Amino acid sequence: MTRDSFDGEELPVEVQRNREADPSGFLVDSQEDGGDARWMAKALQLAQRAMDEDEVPVGALIVHRGRMIAAAWNQREQLQDPTAHAELIAITQAAASIGTWRLEHCTLYVTLEPCPMCAGAIVQARIPRVVYGARDPKAGAVDSLYQLLSDPRLNHRAQVCPGVLAEPCGQILTWFFEEKRRQGKK
Ligand code: ZN
Repeated sequence: MTRDSFDGEELPVEVQRNREADPSGFLVDSQEDGGDARWMAKALQLAQRAMDEDEVPVGALIVHRGRMIAAAWNQREQLQDPTAHAELIAITQAAASIGTWRLEHCTLYVTLEPCPMCAGAIVQARIPRVVYGARDPKAGAVDSLYQLLSDPRLNHRAQVCPGVLAEPCGQILTWFFEEKRRQGKK
């Protein structure tokens, strides 16, 4: 994948945070073959969007009863907001979309293993299922450093499906940081 491979498809996301996602035109049947991989491919497009905006390329989306209700990418630089991770923006959109903070019947797809902040938000939102792509050995709070989504001391546990499209999800991050290093050396 290159920077130019983002297909320019209209994404249901405003640049600003806390806006409601417009899910029109994003009805996709998750029951089709390879449902998780298909959604993750879409999350990867969102990561690409982040890369196009010179953000660390992580994308996330939330599917509620087979329909995508949130789609976001990391916007930490653009918003100068340390909480503007893709997952948190998606969670805010999803809650606005279905009108409740309790995100039952939702699956969160994210290209990178969630950090402690985002895993905490997943617990707070009671999201029942999380699918992620690449592991994050330096900050991952689902499997790598902490296991926040399976900790019996917390009041919510999520079913986790790791490693979906792990290779391209990790590759885009590798490319991004390689490019950053190259630019730094100029
Ligand atoms: Zn995070």
